[in-house]
Amino acid sequence: MKDSLRVAWVHRYLIKSKCFWSVKATALSSGFWRRLLKLRGMARGLLRHKVGLGVCTSLWLDYWLPNGPISSQIGLTVLEILQMDYQVKVDSLISNFQWTIPSSLQQNYFFQSKHFLSQLHSLPDPTPTQDVIQWLPSAPRDYSHRLTRDYFTPPSLLFSCSHLIWFKHHIPKHGRIAWLALRHRLYTLDSKPMRHKHKTNACYLCLAGWESLDHLFFQCKFSRVILEFMQHAAGFYILPNNWTELMHCVVC
Ligand SMILES: [Zn+2]
Repeated sequence: MKDSLRVAWVHRYLIKSKCFWSVKATALSSGFWRRLLKLRGMARGLLRHKVGLGVCTSLWLDYWLPNGPISSQIGLTVLEILQMDYQVKVDSLISNFQWTIPSSLQQNYFFQSKHFLSQLHSLPDPTPTQDVIQWLPSAPRDYSHRLTRDYFTPPSLLFSCSHLIWFKHHIPKHGRIAWLALRHRLYTLDSKPMRHKHKTNACYLCLAGWESLDHLFFQCKFSRVILEFMQHAAGFYILPNNWTELMHCVVC
């Protein structure tokens, strides 16, 4: 995944030399990129940095203090007003494997506050090892798509949806497709097995987005027309944007 062509393309043309956590969508940004950027807040809360040398951990943006990223504690807007450099790493607070506040930051009120100092002193001393980054739904040093999927769509939520799919007069083919889609097991062009078979993962219907489960059923302009028709027919107030929203709509 890390070395895939798509990831390399995103780094080169979308992130460029900026920091992923602070990059902003532009008027030319695609719907896919905008949606991905909107998920950052959710993803950031699930990444934890255990500081070793501190060279892979952003001082301002990463979750390395017990109370969360400094940017969340004092606000991203404040950092922008103070023109703080997002490239600064936690190693700037480390000297001889001890926590030390450099003179450049001693004028900053936050670094002198008890709120920050108590968090810093609750951490173990830095060690001469690489920083460890953990994605909370998975085991340390690992990423599991299945565990991540289960984290956002718990099996219990799936179970509570089952009667909406396997009811007395259900159409078997429709039920099978809906069940696979709810479990993220329905192959679309952006899924790994299909990527090897097709040269493009653009949606065949609109050619304006990548064919993912959520795009195909909820976000494609053709699907949207059908969804809106069904919304009026069924009297729903909310038009879901993805399968998870749909599950929450019908269960809650
Ligand atoms: Zn489409």
